[in-house]
Amino acid sequence: MELDIDFKLVSMLTSQEHQRAQEEITTLGMLTAFRQSLQRHDVALDAATDKNTLACKQGCYWCCYFSVDVRAIEIFNIVQFIKEHFSVERLQQIRDELIANSKVLNTLDEVQRMQHNCKCPFLIDGNCSIYSVRPQTCRNYHATDSRGCQQSFEQPNNMDIAPEYAPITFQTGASQVDAFAKAMHNAGYVIDVYELNSAMLEALDHPDRTWQRFIDKKSAFSVTGNDVPLEFMELGE
Ligand code: SF4
Ligand code: SF4
Repeated sequence: MELDIDFKLVSMLTSQEHQRAQEEITTLGMLTAFRQSLQRHDVALDAATDKNTLACKQGCYWCCYFSVDVRAIEIFNIVQFIKEHFSVERLQQIRDELIANSKVLNTLDEVQRMQHNCKCPFLIDGNCSIYSVRPQTCRNYHATDSRGCQQSFEQPNNMDIAPEYAPITFQTGASQVDAFAKAMHNAGYVIDVYELNSAMLEALDHPDRTWQRFIDKKSAFSVTGNDVPLEFMELGE
């Protein structure tokens, strides 16, 4: 599906979010600023004019077997949430799954990882157990027909399958994410993305050390992060 960029929308969203994020990172600190940004992200997605075309609904979770990349600030937000809300038993169950997933995923390269189904440890009884703090990738991942997601799940090696998506929702989500990441970058933070399982495991096992590295504006995790271009931020400029 070819994307017709709505430059006016992208420009408006990126400049608004970028300015708010820059102010809030300075005045509120990274974690609070990020949470405020997530709230705006959800409001913006809800206002997308094509949101009624989405097939996504509770209990539909083919996409929760696909690879998820996260930025460090998302990991720290999730860690705080699960420590406050999850029982010791549930935390242990999640940690066990993170270990099992990391063992496999750490042996794969980027492309192999995309071709490998792996149940997200936070998918419990068919629902996202961290829905309010789920990664930006999950917030933005959507489809207008779940059959494409099912096909991708059933044929993980087939990279030609591309679930149909809603273009305004897609551009809205990407603009929000890129604008916040650019504000983080301008404030000196590392904005590399990391594979969810490995980064989460390290943050759970070494919360102080990983957080300290993050606020010292270094790479928070020992796993290698990837530098992802902020294409929508650039389109909005
Ligand atoms: S992205 Fe696909 S699998 Fe995920 S909720 Fe939407 S339709 Fe279902
Ligand atoms: S964090 Fe939630 S939405 Fe994202 S892949 Fe895991 S279970 Fe699915």
